[in-house]
Amino acid sequence: MSQQFASDNYAGICPEAWQAMQQANEGSLTAYGEDEWTTRAANAFRTLFETDCEVFFAFNGTAANSLALAALCQSYNSVICSSFAHVETDECGAPEFFSNGSKLLVARTENAKLTPQDVRTLATCRTDIHYPKPRAVTITQPTETGELYTIEEISALSATCRELGLRLHMDGSRFANACAALGCTPADMTWKAGVDVLCFGGTKNGMAVGEAILFFDHALAEGFDYRCKQAGQLASKMRFLSAPWVGLLESGAWLRNGAYGNSCALRLAHAVRDVPGLELMFPVQSNAVFLRAPEKVFIALQERGWRFYTFIGGGARFMFAWDADPARVDELAADLAACSV
Ligand SMILES: *Cc1c(COP(=O)(O)O)cnc(C)c1O
Repeated sequence: MSQQFASDNYAGICPEAWQAMQQANEGSLTAYGEDEWTTRAANAFRTLFETDCEVFFAFNGTAANSLALAALCQSYNSVICSSFAHVETDECGAPEFFSNGSKLLVARTENAKLTPQDVRTLATCRTDIHYPKPRAVTITQPTETGELYTIEEISALSATCRELGLRLHMDGSRFANACAALGCTPADMTWKAGVDVLCFGGTKNGMAVGEAILFFDHALAEGFDYRCKQAGQLASKMRFLSAPWVGLLESGAWLRNGAYGNSCALRLAHAVRDVPGLELMFPVQSNAVFLRAPEKVFIALQERGWRFYTFIGGGARFMFAWDADPARVDELAADLAACSV
């Protein structure tokens, strides 16, 4: 199959993650995370985030998000999110399931970004016993539509959260893309801005599989190891989930991969910006390009063999990972132009 940009999950494993996996494959080592790769990966996160955070590893983002939110909530609590949020639209009810019923309170946002006002409205509209008590807010950085929260916006959200007694969770399935785009440190974008828990995506960053969950408040991580185990998220051969992180973090590939995906999104956006009939649906701020076009353009594009999703926002979504071939990006741009005439 020629390279496609329907999802950043179409990409393979990047060399740095692959090499670390290979090194971790030498000999026998202690199981269930009691190995040196796992310690080294957790320490690499602490170094990168400049803080002594609690670090856990899960197989995928749905589990990471769901278990992190479950750790913040009782079953009678609720979690405020945007109507575009992955936890709401793409996790099959897992956050509610793993929290034993904590309800998602969805803000009907215009784009995928929550504002302090959205949070305040949902958190204060009811205070009676009949309503699930708001306890957490989840934001996605970058958002499902490729937009970024600025540090100031995150800080404003966390200030609102603190005022209202809410915890702040960040779905960072593309966290590296956000860091690269904002040019800020991971610490600036998370605990220094008031984020309590981060799910840091490894899969879309170049690993085969795996996400990390970082608790910046130790108390919130109490029992989280049991929660992971109960949910089937404790890898017995943990070194193969943790070693790729060592490869990504210690080499700096995590950030290079993020920056590279972002640059390819900009490359496409620039190449098609003057094509009549094509319209960018959202500002291109990370590794995603969303295009609006007449239906016939999408059909023609599919006939030329291109795959893409149209279920988010009604346009065509293109995502770029560490492996995007610039020549293929240019081919896509040329085909978009050809299909639009
Ligand atoms: C990809 C993605 C996830 C993780 O999805 P899984 O398929 O469960 O690994 C989480 N949040 C967002 C915004 C995503 O795009």
